[in-house]
Amino acid sequence: MNTFFIEIYGCQMNTYDSKRLIDSLLFSGFERVFTSSEAEILIFYTCNIREKASQKLFSQIGLLKSKRTKVICVGGCVAQAEKENIFKISKNVNIIFGPQVFHKLPGYIKSVLNNDTKRIIDTSLTQTEKFDCLPKRKNVSFSEFVTIQEGCDNFCTYCVVPYTRGREYSRPAKDIIDETKWLLKNGAKEITLIGQNVNSYHGDAPYININQPRGTWRLERLIQEISSLDGLKRLRYTTSHPKDFTKELMEVHSSNNILAPFAHIPVQSGNDRILRIMNRGHTANKYLDKLKRFKDICPSIQFSSDFIVGFPTETEEEFEDTLKLAEEVKYTLSYSFKYSPRSNTPAAVMKGQISEKEKGIRLKMLQDVLIKDQIYYNNSLIGKTQSVLFEKRGKKENQYIGKNVYLQSVVVESKDNLIGKFKEVKITSAAENSVCGEIIGE
Ligand code: SF4
Repeated sequence: MNTFFIEIYGCQMNTYDSKRLIDSLLFSGFERVFTSSEAEILIFYTCNIREKASQKLFSQIGLLKSKRTKVICVGGCVAQAEKENIFKISKNVNIIFGPQVFHKLPGYIKSVLNNDTKRIIDTSLTQTEKFDCLPKRKNVSFSEFVTIQEGCDNFCTYCVVPYTRGREYSRPAKDIIDETKWLLKNGAKEITLIGQNVNSYHGDAPYININQPRGTWRLERLIQEISSLDGLKRLRYTTSHPKDFTKELMEVHSSNNILAPFAHIPVQSGNDRILRIMNRGHTANKYLDKLKRFKDICPSIQFSSDFIVGFPTETEEEFEDTLKLAEEVKYTLSYSFKYSPRSNTPAAVMKGQISEKEKGIRLKMLQDVLIKDQIYYNNSLIGKTQSVLFEKRGKKENQYIGKNVYLQSVVVESKDNLIGKFKEVKITSAAENSVCGEIIGE
């Protein structure tokens, strides 16, 4: 058996892809090892959205290559974006594969091992074939991702996704339901439906006939079907676009107990001119109106968001609009970043790039606001009881860390092993990034 070691960087989509890739390799007779020096095959599966992923990748290849290494593979969005450049920069790399062809990797590795070829590059963007070719999932966890949609048609000017993942594609509802049933039967309790633009889902109904139009199932319909499956305790979805939030999807949140009352709705900026040159397709007011309508329909809903500060040409006054929007919404959780150019995106070549120093100042100001709201919200939970799914041990003895419906970390002490279990927890104290509590009924 040939051994492989895989290094994974990036977002939830990459985590999902990597799990499926690992299953494909195991299914094809490869053995996974967890130290690079034991491996004959090194695989780097990388994301290109936010990190300086390319630089990190090349230094890791140098660090992890050993005497045993026979094949080096680079996959994911960095591979898709950089293509042949990776061969030029690193002579050691044998295989470059994009995120839509990872199911072909076992065959490509065998070709290199058999000396049929020394180098292979495949960055085609055919999404349908991948899902049809993947083997059944192995190593099911209590919390699993299921891809329902891939790619994006929005072309935000800072983002590489439309170029690295291709145009929007929705998996047929039947395939998603079957995969979810399999995961639940094999131990999953929490499912997160994932996609780059998950609320633009337009999948085929489970049983289509020749007279039925294609792509009629929207996210809310899929959620209703999946939340009725045996064994499912909690359902989430991410990530969504503000313009695709329908009234029907908001209503599902108010009537469905399995679906977490939590929505990640990235806004990126609070200024209309910046939103326009980002090509976001909404204004600040339209975004705020949507959140207000959501709250009216489902009062328990809480929001999180993504922000980009220092987008090219952003003035101090325009950045202040972002601060005002954050103060108005009072997010439970947020992710904020300094703008960083991605190759081949329109924003990367815009005039008026903001200095790193100024971006750093703006990021700190925004994070101060976001953290203040996060602390305020965490404090408001004290005395309340929350359902928590425990994921891992804490640093201290008998300490366990889990997530509540709002994705906040909840810390408790217990002599029982809580990993993979849901427990009711009364919150007793709060900090910036987590809350502490006691298990009820122990
Ligand atoms: S909607 Fe999201 S994935 Fe699509 S281009 Fe914009 S930022 Fe990228």
